[in-house]
Amino acid sequence: MQKVSCPSCGAEVAFKSTASVLAVCEFCKTTILKDADSVKNLGKMSDVLEDYSPIQIGTSGVFGDQAFNVIGRIQLRYPAGMWNEWYVLFDDGKAAWLSDASGMYTLTQERPASADTQLPTFEELQPARNYALAGMNYVGADIRTAECIGGQGELPFKVGKGWQARVADFRAGANFLTLDYSDADIPAVYTGQAVTLEGLKCQLLRDEDQVKTSAGKFKGKVDALSCPSCGSSVSFLPGVTTTILCPSCHAQVDAAGPKAEVLQAATRMSQVATTLELGAKADINGKPFEIIGLMQRADDENTSWTEYLLYSARGGFLWLVETDAGWERSTVLDEWPGWFKEESVAYGKATYQKLYRYPATVTFAAGAFNWRVNVGDQTDIIEYEAGQKKLAAEITAEELNWSQSLPVSPDQIRAWFGDKIAADKEEAPDGLEDISTKFIWWIIGLNAIPLFFAMGDTFVPTLMALAAVYLPAKAISWLKG
Ligand SMILES: [Zn+2]
Ligand SMILES: [Zn+2]
Repeated sequence: MQKVSCPSCGAEVAFKSTASVLAVCEFCKTTILKDADSVKNLGKMSDVLEDYSPIQIGTSGVFGDQAFNVIGRIQLRYPAGMWNEWYVLFDDGKAAWLSDASGMYTLTQERPASADTQLPTFEELQPARNYALAGMNYVGADIRTAECIGGQGELPFKVGKGWQARVADFRAGANFLTLDYSDADIPAVYTGQAVTLEGLKCQLLRDEDQVKTSAGKFKGKVDALSCPSCGSSVSFLPGVTTTILCPSCHAQVDAAGPKAEVLQAATRMSQVATTLELGAKADINGKPFEIIGLMQRADDENTSWTEYLLYSARGGFLWLVETDAGWERSTVLDEWPGWFKEESVAYGKATYQKLYRYPATVTFAAGAFNWRVNVGDQTDIIEYEAGQKKLAAEITAEELNWSQSLPVSPDQIRAWFGDKIAADKEEAPDGLEDISTKFIWWIIGLNAIPLFFAMGDTFVPTLMALAAVYLPAKAISWLKG
């Protein structure tokens, strides 16, 4: 470890990795460039935006048989969202990047230069296309130009405000590859895999309260800010949120910057009543989730559905999708089908067959999102099916995302949300009451016939049978009071 004095404030700044060339002074945020025998003051580094990430400088973990420590971080922003690249130092002195995008993690290491030939140019890359790279078959995942908006700790290259990253990510199963065109037309190649914090046995993570209360950018206002357009109080998860669509006036508000700014003025839009409301809390598999955003989308035949974005500090993001056919829970996959084929995909042990391909357009959105969503956004969706399980590929010009969904019963939704379900939607499933009422009259009729002939023992069992049929349907309306 090398220690230097901050040229601005004199505090001691440590370089833990010999590969680090730059460090940000923890106290005064001065960016310090390390030369062979001197240090240079490169001016102040923008503070990182406090976000949802449970990782912090000092977080440790294990990958393979090597222990590591997080020693630095850059925060990158692109038009539709942001992510963190955590610089990680292994005990053997090797370094890697732990990337955290909306709670999806990958760990990658740079491959030796010249190990790969014939790499594609940045301009020719497209998501949802197949590429043979570094001796494997990959699928284009996202292609983006991002800007560094802040840094922390020590870093292996010179970076500052305005530094641009031109990167493309590729996936194959759990394998992950990044082509980084930031410094040259011939990209640096990083390979690695999708990981989880549990899998990495991470220690010294921030807990949920730390994540929530550290959002200094809104001056201590945890969980609420004033809409810069209409002034109404908007709840959001500090740092989780890239974009807010004000539930009152529908302005699109940028919440990823140091101050909430209106991106797009309020549009005239009628309020949409949804079964579940923003802010509704649910206990799902022992983890506390909250609905932070909701949107409605419609296909080209004007069939529409509602999607609820749920977040839990430990459980990450989860979607609940409500269609005419019922409910589904959906998670974004960080392990992908290996090769992109439109007709069928192999995933896990199953082969999924294509169901439909359709364009989906956002028709309504409210609340907080971890990407920049707006009414009118269009995505191409291809749905696949294997038994009860579904896979969906969502494709835009910049990215491909895979999600997997499973049906959820209305009873399960009720169990998760309790009384948070909008009253008018809590009715028994369509027609159930009608059917049971008819059934009761039918039984009465049936039983009344012998009743006319002999006032025997049938009447009491009939009443009990009636109660058994009638009560479950009725109980729901009684409970709702
Ligand atoms: Zn300093
Ligand atoms: Zn507003």
